[in-house]
Amino acid sequence: MLSTMQDVSLTVSRILAHGSTVHGDSEVITWTDTDPHRRTFAEVGRRAAQLAHALRDELGVAAEERTATLMWNNAEHLEAYLAIPSMGAVLHTLNLRLPAEQLTWIINHAEDRVILVNGTLLRLLAPLLPQLPTVEHIVVVGPGDRSLLAGTSARLHDYEELLAGRPETYEWPEIDEREAAALCYTSGTTGDPKGVLYSHRSLYLHSLQVNTTEAFALGPRDLALPVVPMFHVNAWGLPHAAFMAGASLLMPDRFLQPAPLAEMIASQRPTIGAAVPTIWQGLLAELDGNKRDVSSLHTVIIGGSACPPVLMRGFQERHGIRVVHAWGMTETSPLGTVAHPPAGVSDEEEWAYRATQGRFPASVEARLIGPGGEELPWDGQAAGELEVRGPWIAGAYFGGAQGQALRPDDKFSPDGWLRTGDVGTITPNGYLTLTDRAKDVIKSGGEWISSVELENHLMAHPGVAEAAVVAVPDEKWGERPLATVVVTEGSAVTYEELQAFLGERIARWQLPERWAVIPSVPKTSVGKFDKKVLRRQYADGELKVTRLG
Ligand code: AMP
Repeated sequence: MLSTMQDVSLTVSRILAHGSTVHGDSEVITWTDTDPHRRTFAEVGRRAAQLAHALRDELGVAAEERTATLMWNNAEHLEAYLAIPSMGAVLHTLNLRLPAEQLTWIINHAEDRVILVNGTLLRLLAPLLPQLPTVEHIVVVGPGDRSLLAGTSARLHDYEELLAGRPETYEWPEIDEREAAALCYTSGTTGDPKGVLYSHRSLYLHSLQVNTTEAFALGPRDLALPVVPMFHVNAWGLPHAAFMAGASLLMPDRFLQPAPLAEMIASQRPTIGAAVPTIWQGLLAELDGNKRDVSSLHTVIIGGSACPPVLMRGFQERHGIRVVHAWGMTETSPLGTVAHPPAGVSDEEEWAYRATQGRFPASVEARLIGPGGEELPWDGQAAGELEVRGPWIAGAYFGGAQGQALRPDDKFSPDGWLRTGDVGTITPNGYLTLTDRAKDVIKSGGEWISSVELENHLMAHPGVAEAAVVAVPDEKWGERPLATVVVTEGSAVTYEELQAFLGERIARWQLPERWAVIPSVPKTSVGKFDKKVLRRQYADGELKVTRLG
């Protein structure tokens, strides 16, 4: 029997309508190198309508058409976030840190016809244009050297000129909530990038979840600082969620270095921020060296890579800022787990819970699969590959305009669960601890060594700024850990000291024999440790490795 409830589609246009009216006074503040630029949600709503008119009437953007952005986090990007899906097209966010060939591949695969690009990024886009046959229109947002585009066959537009004088309301079409709203390609390091097509429904439900106390609890009193780029899984859903909840947004634009971040926090007083560990590590060092008033910031969300516990403690103990650890993927929108401790535990137990990747919300079902394909218990001990399913979890990848959706066997189980490629344990009360990426686990003599655990211990040593541990071939054991460390400035720490330090914390057989000091850990386009590069450097003999007895 069907229910008697109304069947109203959960769409981005409803988030837009709500945020720009009920929360019309909330603001989006974009950091600049002069004065921060402020715009109310009501203005964003009017300008989103103008943008939709311009895209449809002037540029001929049709329903379902992928429309790309190559932009920093700023107010105009938010306008595109809301306008493009609301008019029935698909917002395609381009990762500006990808190598040129990958970016070209992605734009061609998505068949983008229109690209909105920040003027400061024209130097990135211009050289690609001869290889982008589908691109007909380039809309330049903000200042930049437009002469870089001389000679292109695409039509050039100025964002502000394109919007000027157009109607400030738009008759947003009624869209089936299962329709595609946004497209984001994974930053995968093997094979072609894979496109995840978010639906209106998945974005809407995900935003609701982000705003619960189980996650980040955004509300109208918040000023949220998404340092995580809007091209990386929709800035973890924060722009949509903030617009829905009336939380104001502080957008860092291209000012992502520790000093300007500290500056904007001190002067604009955000309440909550989100970024990968590398960014927060830089900020912590900045604040330790040059104290500023960051007391407004009650929460810092860290995800994208494992958050070293020492980073969590550093923020809390030295600056009174609570770090909340979270796990997710491009394929999971990304909210998968959030590490809030359960009720009724001691302070020390709290830390142990907060160091995990966290708990799943009701909408994300999880299971652990063992090496033989068997489902493992949630006992906090058995480690297996994590598989998830839910209304904001991808069930396939975008196969291109004419292509079928792609469901590679290594990414989706026969019964439709997403294979995350992450290995870990789950406690009976649902806390996930990731020990590795499946491809990064170190298989030593039939036992697994967790690279993440070794890294976390190493990074807790004052002489170590960063540490990355990778598996290297070993004649006797199959694989053994190679510990690569970035030493803190001025430190004279020795390998023997580090090994002794580890020896007090982990089993003897897990201790790395091979050590190398590196200037910095290679990072992927979204700031994660790029262990593939380290493995290659080891194989090519580029690392100066010391072997301890
Ligand atoms: P991406 O799709 O680029 O966001 O990458 C997703 C992957 O990042 C996950 O499958 C994990 O391997 C990793 N990841 C994300 N968050 C965490 C976390 N909190 N701890 C450990 N790994 C993480």
